[in-house]
Amino acid sequence: MSFLEIDRAVKQFGGLRAVSDVSFTLEKGEVVGLLGPNGSGKTTLINLVSGALPATSGDIRLDGLRLTGLSRDRIARAGVARTFQLVRTLPSLSLVENVMITAVFGRHAHWGAAARRVALGALEMVGLSDRAGVAAADLTYIDQKRLELARALAAEPEILLLDEWLAGLNPTELAEGVALIRTLHQGGLTILMVEHIIDAVRALCPRVVVMNSGELIADAPTDIALADPMVVSAYLGG
Ligand code: ADP
Repeated sequence: MSFLEIDRAVKQFGGLRAVSDVSFTLEKGEVVGLLGPNGSGKTTLINLVSGALPATSGDIRLDGLRLTGLSRDRIARAGVARTFQLVRTLPSLSLVENVMITAVFGRHAHWGAAARRVALGALEMVGLSDRAGVAAADLTYIDQKRLELARALAAEPEILLLDEWLAGLNPTELAEGVALIRTLHQGGLTILMVEHIIDAVRALCPRVVVMNSGELIADAPTDIALADPMVVSAYLGG
């Protein structure tokens, strides 16, 4: 049994099969890149794993627990956390309040002072602890991304799903972001990351899975997958 098992997952939107019979697995502690051109179904797959959308068919299991059909909250409690491509923070609340929300709904359902402690720990991990009392609305783009990650981490996940978390960062911020993801990996977290920045993928992910038109077209060590003619032609729109 693998840690995360995605078994023939399908998501149909009307006549469109956004995710079509996708199967792959992750072992505990792996960092795997989820690649594919725009519209290939990557975010939809993340939505299926995190329970943001119900699968049309197929099974998704974490550590043997069937996630398919469970509510988003139950899946968060099972240890799945994700970031969103469009940062989702509550602008009028402070950073620590933003992060406490996910500590409350996360794996250990912390409350009150305990939720605050976990939230401050998550802000510390992403380098925002000195701004815990600032309103989220006042953050720069990179700090919003950090806050988004802190929200995911405060749920104390077993597996973290990153949806282009590195997108839009300048080179210095990108290097910091890559280092942060590496630290999380070294701490034992299992990570599935949608990412277009190939240098970051090469730096972080020994293995990638590649989607095209809803289907999985590669599951291989990163160098091999990126040299695969089917993957190259998918990116060129062939
Ligand atoms: P990617 O993340 O690889 O860019 P997406 O998973 O966002 O791809 O989208 C895959 C396909 O599913 C696209 O054609 C997109 O337009 C469609 N899609 C995504 N979400 C929905 C939705 N809620 N309703 C209908 N179609 C959707």
